[in-house]
Amino acid sequence: MTDSHPNRVESAAGEARFNRLLNTLKQAVGAVILFGPPGAGKGTQARGIGRRLGVPHISTGDMLRLQVSAGTSTGRDARAIMEQGALIPDDWVNHMVETRLREPDCRGGFVLDGYPRTRGQAAALDKMLSNNGTQMKVFNIVVGYNEIIRRTTGRRLCPRCGTIYNIYVKPPREPNLCDRDQTPLEIRIDDREDVIRERIQAYEKQTRPVIEYLREQKQAVYEVDGSLPPEKISEQLVEILTAP
Ligand code: AMP
Repeated sequence: MTDSHPNRVESAAGEARFNRLLNTLKQAVGAVILFGPPGAGKGTQARGIGRRLGVPHISTGDMLRLQVSAGTSTGRDARAIMEQGALIPDDWVNHMVETRLREPDCRGGFVLDGYPRTRGQAAALDKMLSNNGTQMKVFNIVVGYNEIIRRTTGRRLCPRCGTIYNIYVKPPREPNLCDRDQTPLEIRIDDREDVIRERIQAYEKQTRPVIEYLREQKQAVYEVDGSLPPEKISEQLVEILTAP
């Protein structure tokens, strides 16, 4: 069979139409931004939305953890900051995100998880997005203090596939092994209770004011009740994102 076989030509045309439609859909998704304190479920939701809408999930925390596990000198610097529950300097994180957003899979739509976290980062993102007219859709996942502590201290992570578990509310089928690939689960370096308290403080002082900043910039900010089951939250998010 040659390339000029009618079925093949038709399927190539169909694929091109499908890709155009997909790009239009992605364009409609724009920049989805998930806010919330540590343990709000940003990672779980961002991964789910990315999968359902076919756009990349970009987590600055995951990118930094990759550098930490690679053991580079940058990774060692990141680890020292993350272990204290503090934030990585804006210039560093802004550069990381700007480079990632230039990759072709981000054209049109993506989900940002854990970025922006300061007013400086929000201003930098605004500049990156206004260059190509991408719209922001911001979701603020609201969760109470006790729930944050329970979720973060119970969190376990598969270092291989990134699946997130919680020993209290979403335990793996076999203790401490990932359901998908049986890899032993890990505790994040910044999920110790003393570090979590620092992270909550960093959130209150530096990140919460970003919501106000975005509202001042007339960005759409949707509040989401983070105490709902994850499937309910994800339904709400997808409904808002796909509304005409
Ligand atoms: P996360 O996985 O988003 O909870 O991030 C884990 C840690 O990585 C944070 O506590 C910070 O130390 C660092 N981090 C992640 N994203 C950012 C960001 N946008 N700005 C500064 N530090 C960050």
